[in-house]
Amino acid sequence: MEENFDIAVVGGGPAGLSAACSAAKSGAKVILLEKDEAIAHNIRTSGVTWVDAMDRLGIPSRYYNPINNFRFVSPANDIVISGSTPKSCVLDVRGMYQHLAFLAAEAGAEIMVRSNVINVIKDGDRIAGVKASTPKGDLTLRATLVIDASGFSSSVGRKAGLAGEWKRYGVGAEYECYCDSVDSTTWVLMVGKQYSDAGYAWVFPLSKNRVRIGVGIGRPDSDADPLEKLHLLLEKRPKPLDSLGKIQPVELHYGSIPNEGSRQTSIADGLMMVGDSAGQSNPLVLEGIRYAIEFGRLAGEVGAKSISQGSSKESLAEYERTWKSKVESRIASALRVQSRWIGLSDEQWDKEIEILRDMTVDEFLDFIKADFTAGKMMKLALHHPKIAARQLFNMIIKG
Ligand SMILES: Cc1cc2nc3c(=O)[nH]c(=O)nc-3n(C[C@H](O)[C@H](O)[C@H](O)COP(=O)(O)OP(=O)(O)OC[C@H]3O[C@@H](n4cnc5c(N)ncnc54)[C@H](O)[C@@H]3O)c2cc1C
Repeated sequence: MEENFDIAVVGGGPAGLSAACSAAKSGAKVILLEKDEAIAHNIRTSGVTWVDAMDRLGIPSRYYNPINNFRFVSPANDIVISGSTPKSCVLDVRGMYQHLAFLAAEAGAEIMVRSNVINVIKDGDRIAGVKASTPKGDLTLRATLVIDASGFSSSVGRKAGLAGEWKRYGVGAEYECYCDSVDSTTWVLMVGKQYSDAGYAWVFPLSKNRVRIGVGIGRPDSDADPLEKLHLLLEKRPKPLDSLGKIQPVELHYGSIPNEGSRQTSIADGLMMVGDSAGQSNPLVLEGIRYAIEFGRLAGEVGAKSISQGSSKESLAEYERTWKSKVESRIASALRVQSRWIGLSDEQWDKEIEILRDMTVDEFLDFIKADFTAGKMMKLALHHPKIAARQLFNMIIKG
C-alpha cells in the first residue's frame, strides 16, 4: 500500500514527537512511525533534566520530581551542593513522552506504533519517503521530507548515507526500584572504578519510595557490561545504596547515547536528523531530552516551511544553522572535560570532586549543563583560584 505525506517522522521519542507536533501545527500533513508497541514502552533514559528548561518548553510540573541538592560520591570523598529551590528534576519519562504524543495528535499528526522503518525511498539523490513494517502490513510512505528522530541508531540517516555509526558512545543500564526510603530532593552521582570502569553510576529519586539506580559506561574506553556492574552494586551496596533499605527493581531500562559531539551535517535533500540521531546531547552527564524537544520543535517548524520548496537542503539550512549556533561549541567544550574525566583513577576522582565543593548551586549547574560561556567561566576561575579549577577552565575555554 502506498500513501503520501508532507512529512514522515521516524521515531517517537522526545525529538520525533516534538517535530511531529510543531510540523502539524504549522499546517503540514504528518505521519510519525514508532517501532515499539507504545510511546515510551521501552525507556532508554534516566530522565534527569532542568526545571528552567522544562518551564521554558512548557512541560507541566506534574511530570517531574523536583531536585534541590546534588551529591557526588567518590571512593574516599563525598560532597553535597545544596540549593534552597529545586533547579533540577527527574522526569516521569513515560508520562511526559505520552503527553508530547497527545500534543502531536491534537495538532493533527498521525501516529503509528509498532511500525518499524526498514528502508528509505530515493528519487535520484534525494530522500522521498520510507518503507515501514506496520500492524496494517508493509507500507510505502512517500513524503517530501523525512525527519530522522530514531535516536542512537540514526537509522534513516545511515540508510541514506548521510551518517555513519557512532564510534564513541555511552551505554547504560538502570533499574527503576521500590526502596524503603530515599531523600527525594537529592540526586547522587557516584564515580570511581567500583561504580563504573569508564563513566559513573547514579541514584535518581522520583519520590521517597521510588528511585532509578543505574550504571553508565563509555565505549570504546571499556567493554564492561553496565547491567553486570549494576547487579554487583546492588549486591554489595556501597555508599549511598547502603542507606536505601530494601531495594526492589520493578522496571529495567537500557540504552545507548552518542558521545563524540554533534554530527557535522544534519540535513540533505528531503532529510533532517534531530535529537540523538544528530548528536544533540550534552556529553558531561549524557543528557539530551531538553535538546531533543527544543530542536525537534525547530525541525518541525523549518521542515513544514520547506515543503513548498521541495524540502531542498537549502530550504532546511536555517534548522542546522540555528541548532549549531546554540549548542555545537558547548558540546565540544563538554567533550574536552569528559575526556579528562574518563581517564581518572580513584585517587584522582577524590581530588577532582573537591573542585565542586566550593561552587554555588548556579555555578555548578552552569558547569554540569555545559553552559560554558566565556564570561561565566572567567568568573568561575576568578572565584575559585584553586589549581584544579583553573586547569578545568583552561581546558574548557582554550581547548
Ligand atoms: C542510559 C541513558 C541515560 C540517559 N539519561 C538521561 C538523562 O538523565 N537526562 C537526559 O536529558 N537525557 C538522558 N539520556 C539521553 C536521552 O535519553 C536522549 O538524549 C533522548 O532520549 C534523545 O531523544 P530522541 O527522541 O532523539 O531519541 P530516543 O528517545 O532514543 O527516541 C528514538 C525513538 O525512535 C524509535 N526508533 C528507532 N529506530 C526506529 C525505526 N527504524 N523505525 C521506527 N522507530 C524507530 C525508538 O524506538 C525510539 O522510541 C540518557 C540516555 C541513556 C542511554
